Amino acid sequence: MSLIVQKFGGTSVADLVRIQEVAKRVAKTYDAGNQVAVVLSAMAGVTDHLIQMAEVLTDTPDKRELDVLMATGEQTTVALLAIALKKMGYKAKSLLGHQVRVLTDSSSGSARILDISGDAIRDLLDKGYIAVVAGFQGSDAMGNITTLGRGGSDTSAVAIAAAVNADVCEIYTDVDGVYTADPNVVPKARKLSTITYDVMLEMSGLGAKVLQIRSVEFAKKFGVPVHVRSSFNEDRDMERMVVAGVTVAKSDARITITKVPDQPGIAARIFQAVADAGISVDMIIQNTRSGNMTDVTFTVPGADYKQALEIEKKVAEEIGAEDVAGDENIAKVSITGVGMKSHPGVAARMFRALSEEGINILMISTSEIRISCVVEQKYAELAARVLHTEFGLDKKDG
Ligand code: ASP
Ligand code: MG
Repeated sequence: MSLIVQKFGGTSVADLVRIQEVAKRVAKTYDAGNQVAVVLSAMAGVTDHLIQMAEVLTDTPDKRELDVLMATGEQTTVALLAIALKKMGYKAKSLLGHQVRVLTDSSSGSARILDISGDAIRDLLDKGYIAVVAGFQGSDAMGNITTLGRGGSDTSAVAIAAAVNADVCEIYTDVDGVYTADPNVVPKARKLSTITYDVMLEMSGLGAKVLQIRSVEFAKKFGVPVHVRSSFNEDRDMERMVVAGVTVAKSDARITITKVPDQPGIAARIFQAVADAGISVDMIIQNTRSGNMTDVTFTVPGADYKQALEIEKKVAEEIGAEDVAGDENIAKVSITGVGMKSHPGVAARMFRALSEEGINILMISTSEIRISCVVEQKYAELAARVLHTEFGLDKKDG
């Protein structure tokens, strides 16, 4: 007997027919002799719809009330699934975040889990129930309802799996697994049979939308095995492949400050100014130049671009730099894989593949298991396909 957490995303519970399908799948797992805790998202589109309603009333809905509102999406689906399971003759009970005791901080809309108790769920499972838990939600120390950020039910599922010490956390989503690239961009993308936490973390951070990144952090921290469920399996040993996947992110923008005085403390001022505004910087390049001047280029999330540009214009004036320029039409294309550590020449191969298509590289950054290149946004998809082919990831029959 195993203890299995099964998480179903919005498309899996999008209507009553699908909820009945989910009920059947859960029942099958239960009938095989397992204990099952189910974690659900809201029906596809419902969270968006709830937010839109609030935004009809005001541009700036109260954040606490927005959480109360958004949490109803998951309240609906857990009740419906429990009803469906009971109708099929199973013992099932729904639990909302506060009933589980998902204790979070008070940052409405993006709350972090501080502590989570497995007791309520375990108690139900030990009595032969299927526990049906609302994802995405918790409550803070004062009892206010909170939500974990968009896509947060993945994080709920993994956190709950850790809390009840589950044998596995199965994530059923609208894609049937983690792919070597977004199949919408790279038609020849293949499903991976396994992926390490670190590679998945990098890929989530780079724009692969399969799992909310915090769920992967949780899984790594607590060693929760996560299965993104697929109907068929490929049995290639991904550990031995150099590159596990190609990701594309178009959401960043680039800022360049030219002729920056090359003195100690200047870089600190440039980056402190954006940090003070709560803007996080991703890639940074500083060129060495003749004389005492240098250029500094960095990327920020597109949403923070205008603000960052204004801030740096002021800083540039203060430090006596020449000019500040920006560019929103960029994309970051990355290759990720643990195999890179032991294979020299991966970067050179990546750059050559891009250059053979005439794609100019604007910025480069690397980690132990990742290489990212910023390119002009119009080349993003082409770059992804080229790299996918270059590193042998294409589907054979595609
Ligand atoms: N319903 C929430 C959302 O749409 C949480 C989730 O689906 O993971 O973001
Ligand atoms: Mg999701």
